[in-house]
Amino acid sequence: MKKEHELTREEKISKKKIANWKDPNSTYNSKEYRKKLSEVKKGKKFTEEHKKRIGDAHRGRIAYWAIGKTPWNKGKKGLFKHTEEAKKRISLSRLNEKNSQWKGNKVKYTALHAWVRRRKPQPKLCTKCNKRKAYDLSNISGEYKRDVNDYEWLCRKCHMEEDGRLYNLNHNKEKRT
Ligand SMILES: [Zn+2]
Repeated sequence: MKKEHELTREEKISKKKIANWKDPNSTYNSKEYRKKLSEVKKGKKFTEEHKKRIGDAHRGRIAYWAIGKTPWNKGKKGLFKHTEEAKKRISLSRLNEKNSQWKGNKVKYTALHAWVRRRKPQPKLCTKCNKRKAYDLSNISGEYKRDVNDYEWLCRKCHMEEDGRLYNLNHNKEKRT
């Protein structure tokens, strides 16, 4: 048996969980929880209200922990309205979410570029025209694969032409679908 300080975080959590299960006073062993569990096990169908609230939780309208709770404004139509300030706050947080996603992608591509750079040394001349100075790594497929063969060293002009080709490719794809 491991000593307390040797346990990983996960092990500590699972140990705590087991202790909770064994403790007759924990929520897991409360009559209410047991009843709910047995209802679930009996395959009791969710009520329409419950289903709707699960859907609400998925759409981020309510918190997951609130699914089984009766809304405080139930039956009081039109009482629950976001204030203008709250609306602003919500849209701002959604914007931040998108922004962080974008940042995540940017980091991903920068890291990928560095990865390719280390494996594909920069030649003196553009690999396409062989005339002008190689300027940047260009992605060939537009899918940013982690594959050195999906990148080539191009001069500024060829890179711009390549980007235009990819843009048209993607643009036409969108049009077709
Ligand atoms: Zn070129």
